[in-house]
Amino acid sequence: MMRTRIGIALAGTAATVLALAGCSGDSSPLPGSTTAAATPGASAAAPAATPDTSCNPRASLRPTGALPQPGHMPAGSYMAKIQAQGRLILGTSQDTLLFSSRNPFTGKVEGFDVDMGRQIAQAIFGDPNKLQIKVIGYDKRVSSAKDGSVDIVADTMTANCARWKDVNFSSIYYEAGQRVLVSKDSPVKSIDDLGGKKVCAASGSTSLDNIAKAKSKPIPVAKASFGDCLVAFQQNEVDAISTDDTILAGMAAQDPYARVVGVPFTQEPYGMAMSKAHPEFTQFVNAVLAKNRENGTWTATYKKWLGAFGAPPAPPVAEYK
Ligand code: GLU
Repeated sequence: MMRTRIGIALAGTAATVLALAGCSGDSSPLPGSTTAAATPGASAAAPAATPDTSCNPRASLRPTGALPQPGHMPAGSYMAKIQAQGRLILGTSQDTLLFSSRNPFTGKVEGFDVDMGRQIAQAIFGDPNKLQIKVIGYDKRVSSAKDGSVDIVADTMTANCARWKDVNFSSIYYEAGQRVLVSKDSPVKSIDDLGGKKVCAASGSTSLDNIAKAKSKPIPVAKASFGDCLVAFQQNEVDAISTDDTILAGMAAQDPYARVVGVPFTQEPYGMAMSKAHPEFTQFVNAVLAKNRENGTWTATYKKWLGAFGAPPAPPVAEYK
């Protein structure tokens, strides 16, 4: 069947985006832990893949002591190196609406993930704008954090045991889960109905692996980015896109002929990735996250980007090794 869709350019403000999301008719609960199924330990559909239990991917490095004053990073620390370089270099994507996407009116990349980076810059410099954004591919998130080409990655990135072998993750700052986006006139209700159908996800994402492991045996189609998946979907090259509910919500906001279906069938806890070479930076970032969970900054950030989808859930509880 032919579908006619018009991709809507990435909207300029969160308000516009959320208005669009409303227009898309996607009544599904949004990102976050407001749904029982997206809450760790709560029941969801049977996981598509056996989770890797070789580590606790949520457990990060415990912060030590009080945060140093902004502008006074301890000598010899990686934070002092960042202070000397004059900006925090954040690796992220530019096509994940609500989390990190380029605002066409300002040209700036913005969203929940970018604000996570801004809050770290605030803690180092006392200025959230001392941030340089480097746009990286989904398949370059681990290597960019590992080789130091960015100081930190905040990019809808799931903390998992495989990635922990190469990078440190911060404590969890967002709980997502994988769902499915299909055409509004599709009878598909979940990943279980996509056997033999082409389902798109970005190379280097856990989503692609989860599609390949789904019991229904969909045909995984890899693209460089989820923006490319949306184009492929709009051109009828693929039947569905499957990735985190966060990313799908942004896509549904851009395509009034698409909707998000099914309950989350995986858990995708987001952490910021950093090099293992300087663990004090991971501890520092965790101290900033702890402070911002406590003082309401996390909740304000949720409301700013995702508030129109419902009341903010409690921030994810930090776990430490
Ligand atoms: N959160 C998943 C991941 O880190 C899938 C979506 C994404 O690529 O960000 O792979």
